[in-house]
Amino acid sequence: MSQIDTLPPLRDVIATHALSARKSLGQNFLLDLNLTAKIARQAGDLTTCDILEIGPGPGGLTRALLAGGARRVLAIEKDSRCLAALNEIADHYPDQLEILNGDALDIDPLAHLNAPIRIVANLPYNVGTELLIRWLTPPQWPPFWQSLTLMFQREVAERIVATPGTKAYGRLALMCQWRADPHIVMSLPPGAFTPPPKVSSAVVHITARATPRFPADAKILERVVAVAFNQRRKMLRSALKPITKDIEPHLVAAGIAPTARAETVSLEQFCALARQLAPIMKPAPQ
Ligand code: SAM
Repeated sequence: MSQIDTLPPLRDVIATHALSARKSLGQNFLLDLNLTAKIARQAGDLTTCDILEIGPGPGGLTRALLAGGARRVLAIEKDSRCLAALNEIADHYPDQLEILNGDALDIDPLAHLNAPIRIVANLPYNVGTELLIRWLTPPQWPPFWQSLTLMFQREVAERIVATPGTKAYGRLALMCQWRADPHIVMSLPPGAFTPPPKVSSAVVHITARATPRFPADAKILERVVAVAFNQRRKMLRSALKPITKDIEPHLVAAGIAPTARAETVSLEQFCALARQLAPIMKPAPQ
């Protein structure tokens, strides 16, 4: 294990604070500081950014972010057993680490952060996708974050970067690729974690684009995609009936065969369909 700081090795931290992993909190810890340093490097230049970390646990990634020069780190951790270990890191990096004890789904981090902001996390599997969807669908674009560097189960990472015609292609790929650029940058076997999870993991680095790849109203695109993939094996002329019974002419106008299935339709085509459907899906102006 490399010496990224003079704090004790993570195995000692876990033993000292009796941090036995809890499955209900998605606790699979990274104890190799070489590995956490590698993840921190994937996030790019940290020196000019505030970093939001969800689920620091005993602090392996937190330590790597701070040792990697992060301007400030805001770490939100639900498990109060981890606070003593995290406070030791805060003492080591005065004024650079703020720890909030609570559920990341309930806390608005923006009051605690200054732009530019990057999000870096080994996410708890139980709330990872929900947090990602929130970060991808903010009230306005560009979002409050510049980039997301996130550990997911490999299967979720593949859904984020998937292309049309593949089994993994769906809502997550479209929502992510419309306004951001996602790449899988690292793969990790179960044995990299303590305790090892059942499946492999991957780190995805996602950068926010200044503008969407193709024009569309966010809410309309989200609804069209959600309805289309709700019955992904059906032809779009039936899958999209919940939007309007008369869907066929709209599909044709958007350049999509009514007999096509959602999983073969490109992002550009979905955006064209969202624009085509906007007049009937948006409430008429007063
Ligand atoms: N970052 C640490 C690491 O890499 O070793 C721990 C990662 S572990 C996969 C996920 C962490 O998220 C745990 O520390 C867990 O307690 C925390 N957690 C779980 N649910 C949470 C939630 N809703 N809000 C904030 N933290 C949460």
